[in-house]
Amino acid sequence: MRKINEECGIFGIISPEPIQAAGLTASALLALQHRGQEGAGIATFYTDDTLICHKNVGLVNDIFGDFLRHVPSTNVAVGHVRYSTTGNNTVENTQPIETVHSQLTCALAHNGNITNAAKLRSEMVNQGGKVFHTTNDSEIINMLLIEQMICCRNIEKAVLNVMNILEGAFSLVIATPEKLIAARDKCGFRPLCMGKLGSATVFASESCALDCIGAEFVRDVQPGELISIDRFGKEKNMRQKDLSCRGLCVFEMIYIARSDSFIDGMSVYESRLTMGRALYRQKPIEADIVCGVPDSGLDAALGYSLESGIPYAPAFVKNRYMGRSFIEPSQKMRERTVNVKLNPLRAQIEGKRIVLVDDSIVRGTTSARMLAPLRQMGAKEIHLRISSPPFKHPCYFGTDIDSVENLIANHLSVEEICKKIGADSLEYLDLNNLVAIGKEKGVKFCSGCFTGEYPIPVVGSGKHTFDDV
Ligand code: SF4
Repeated sequence: MRKINEECGIFGIISPEPIQAAGLTASALLALQHRGQEGAGIATFYTDDTLICHKNVGLVNDIFGDFLRHVPSTNVAVGHVRYSTTGNNTVENTQPIETVHSQLTCALAHNGNITNAAKLRSEMVNQGGKVFHTTNDSEIINMLLIEQMICCRNIEKAVLNVMNILEGAFSLVIATPEKLIAARDKCGFRPLCMGKLGSATVFASESCALDCIGAEFVRDVQPGELISIDRFGKEKNMRQKDLSCRGLCVFEMIYIARSDSFIDGMSVYESRLTMGRALYRQKPIEADIVCGVPDSGLDAALGYSLESGIPYAPAFVKNRYMGRSFIEPSQKMRERTVNVKLNPLRAQIEGKRIVLVDDSIVRGTTSARMLAPLRQMGAKEIHLRISSPPFKHPCYFGTDIDSVENLIANHLSVEEICKKIGADSLEYLDLNNLVAIGKEKGVKFCSGCFTGEYPIPVVGSGKHTFDDV
């Protein structure tokens, strides 16, 4: 089924004492698996500062078994789960990216999308004679880091200089034999938080990864901030000067992040409840049950139920054994196998007026295929409620949204979409209701894929604005 795809997840840990840094990183990556299922990697340093990195395509559980049995206790490690929004899905493109250079030995993990990557790469190849081994953005960051280390010979200054050169979305963790550095782009597109595990410091894309290893949440890394922790636990902070832009990806709150995470002071779960409540208030309707599309529509459905007083009930049984990498080789196969993943619960839906809540509509084909069996099994009415505004524009910052011509809302009205997918009524969440969730916590969202207006200029868009609608 064509859905919006998540992007990458990153994690880093540094401790004054040798600990099971690689094992803890693997556990944290499991908690971040929803952000990328194409590949994963862990890098750490032996006591003689030798960098070792184990990575492969596939899921966390399938990659690290042997590695974790043999890797010793170490002081620092970084890890990455990958969903490829740039570059092919090959082992070479998995992260962390390693650098062993006379000026810098490090391992780097990156979440986001660098919008000036093509320009930087061509400058480095044509003017600097550089040779790239991968097709992903992260190697460009490593090359820039080496250049900056040659100039300033100070890792924090080098990272800050690189942050000033890069444009777009990046949350980074960088491990050297002596330090762990976390950095977040000046708009704060992608989340990154800091925690403590005894005397160790950890950084993760989402706070659910801290919970799963027993670490305590300390704070979010601020947009444009760099935090460096050395082996003795000493912390150093730096901040970019230009902080005029703000734009946490609102789709993190709608779909990408796990419900049990907190991002920039906001509970993802509570935000989704609020979205569901707002959906009911926007267009109240009478119905017998409220259902969510597993898994991403469930929290908003609960919010809708709480606000409306309409009972919450499951409408589908989800097959837990398919995994995310289920391959659907052809359109015909996709149509035949739609019920393999989600099968309607006839006993629940027969003869009922249903409010069905989902997070998004991309091409409309998935929604249509989901609604048809509900009808066949006797649903009396189906009112589809979407906890995001209509997708109309591309994302340049690391979320894999379908090409514009495939986005159904780009060329059909809400009424036309409703008819096409076979719903009795269709309502999208109003953007103002999303913006209000951020405003309450002083957070500005990027909502470019809904409005076409992005927090920073992007090639070809010619638009540059914030989300304060
Ligand atoms: S354009 Fe959409 S998906 Fe991309 S960062 Fe902005 S809100 Fe997120």
